[in-house]
Amino acid sequence: MAISRVLITGGAGFIGSHLADLFLERDCDVVVMDNLLTGDIRNIEHLFGNPRFQFIHHDVTDFIHVTGKIDAILHFASPASPIDYQEYPIQTLKVGSLGTHKALGLAKACGARFLLASTSEVYGDPLVHPQPETYWGNVNPIGVRGVYDEAKRFAEAMTLAYHRAHGVDTRIVRIFNTYGPRMRLDDGRALPNFICQALSEQSLTVFGDGSQTRSFCHVSDLIDGIWRLLESDVVEPVNLGNPDEIPIIDFAKEVIAMTKSDSGISYLPLPEDDPQVRQPDITLAKSLLGWSPEVSLAEGLSSTIPYFERALRSRGSESVTFTES
Ligand code: UDP
Repeated sequence: MAISRVLITGGAGFIGSHLADLFLERDCDVVVMDNLLTGDIRNIEHLFGNPRFQFIHHDVTDFIHVTGKIDAILHFASPASPIDYQEYPIQTLKVGSLGTHKALGLAKACGARFLLASTSEVYGDPLVHPQPETYWGNVNPIGVRGVYDEAKRFAEAMTLAYHRAHGVDTRIVRIFNTYGPRMRLDDGRALPNFICQALSEQSLTVFGDGSQTRSFCHVSDLIDGIWRLLESDVVEPVNLGNPDEIPIIDFAKEVIAMTKSDSGISYLPLPEDDPQVRQPDITLAKSLLGWSPEVSLAEGLSSTIPYFERALRSRGSESVTFTES
């Protein structure tokens, strides 16, 4: 099926807005739907003059309607950083459940392909390492992260139910830690916190002893993988992420070195249910999509740091406060 018009829910967010750029570059019409709860209109303001672009300010958990044909729906709406989904726990559960239901209903009505943005959080604090798609996970449903993890697990179940019961053509991407320009300075994640702290000569806030690991993927690699998945016929969930795993303490030191900062490190308590390890097994993405990430952490950081420098400067003399857990 040729895709010429797409709906991106959460398209004013970090990843959604990069997808909007990609689809426009590839000659598709793009409709972005976002309620701007954690998204930012500045991420898409450069697209407003483009006749192929349309923005609908709307909450996807309410009934959604889009005029004209839609070939594909990419469902990216959701708070996605730990502090965001803990600040908006009910909205997070609603967008993963009711929002996914509405978006799937629209896909069924339009005959559109549907791609769900799922997450490595479906694996919880994993007992299998690295995590293949066949691993069912270790999630605390009633913990502080449960609102996100369970919403996304429900969203995956709902997506497969629409595929099996209604024949909707579905895709599921499990996204691991991703970074790059347009991340919010204050979204509380390790990478924006560390870069902003290093650039402002504040101590980097490492939670716990920093031995917990993550694997950071540059957004350009991620969106290339999402494009390939959408174009493929792979219905089963596919991990996309960079398998280059690093302890958080080493990551903090790398940021200090790359920003040539004099910042030190301060150790703060580890948040509840913080996964101890995380690394994607990308065997499936390699074999089914011919995809693997190309941007190393050093390259990705050196192209991302200038974005944070500019963003901090544009805040002028406003003082920046960092969320610490
Ligand atoms: N983290 C940290 N300092 C910070 C923010 C996060 O040490 O200022 C840790 C956090 O506890 C976790 C890792 O960095 O172990 C990645 O956290 P992030 O919020 O980026 O996303 P997560 O991978 O936990 O969803």
